[in-house]
Amino acid sequence: MSSRPSTVSEAVQQQKQLAAHEPFRFACHPGVACFNRCCADVNILLTPVDVLRLSRRLGLTTGEFLDRHTQIPITKELHLPVVMLRMGEAPGKPCPFVGAEGCTVYDSRPWACRMYPVGMALPPARAGREPEPVHFLFEDDFCRGREEAKLWTVAAWRDDQRVDEQEELEAGFRDIVSHPWFIGGRQLDPKRVEMFFMACYDLDTFRRFVFDSTFLDRFDVEPDLVGRLRESDDELLRFAFRWLRLSLFGEPTLRARKEAAR
Ligand code: SF4
Ligand code: SF4
Repeated sequence: MSSRPSTVSEAVQQQKQLAAHEPFRFACHPGVACFNRCCADVNILLTPVDVLRLSRRLGLTTGEFLDRHTQIPITKELHLPVVMLRMGEAPGKPCPFVGAEGCTVYDSRPWACRMYPVGMALPPARAGREPEPVHFLFEDDFCRGREEAKLWTVAAWRDDQRVDEQEELEAGFRDIVSHPWFIGGRQLDPKRVEMFFMACYDLDTFRRFVFDSTFLDRFDVEPDLVGRLRESDDELLRFAFRWLRLSLFGEPTLRARKEAAR
């Protein structure tokens, strides 16, 4: 089984680190002998945008997508829950989205699938220091794409796979998971972990939380932003990350109405 590490220590132990301008060989196309080999029995961590884009692509609510297509591994090592794509039940555990011609959700494929064979991990938070991502190269034996002639650098590969736009939208998410609040092993209580999960991954439930509760009576949200939150999933997701900084860490990212009236 292939596994894509999620922490720097795992990545550094198992894979070859890639410097910014270090070239690597890779090409993936239907002509490679291993075509689709990597789309089965694999651990794929889903980011908030992955869940959102795949849900919309499949015509599901985020809650339906999470129920049908994901699993949340229980692990004491992580301070926040992670969401993984659930592989199929058929022999070989194929990804539910792989077809004879390749990925059937290609335009909405997860970040980890875009990046492969490059991986990225964030080091643990350190006070006063922005975590610098570490890139590495997966060297799975089954992947023949690394024998192809085409040369890449990390920057060229990221550009080709158009990951910057997604990462810009998820900057607030990375700020939360690598927040200095967690330094020293501090843990959120279960209620806050639930808030994190809802706001980051179950955006349709978060939307109801904002619009079908007293939320907008309690918080002074800019009126033009309220309109955009109704219309745009991306705006709502950015807002979810902003709200989490208040609700998880007590940062003044939103004003309570009473406070605003003073
Ligand atoms: S989402 Fe697409 S690219 Fe990713 S494992 Fe499934 S079929 Fe392969
Ligand atoms: S194993 Fe490598 S070359 Fe083969 S289909 Fe997957 S990514 Fe492409």
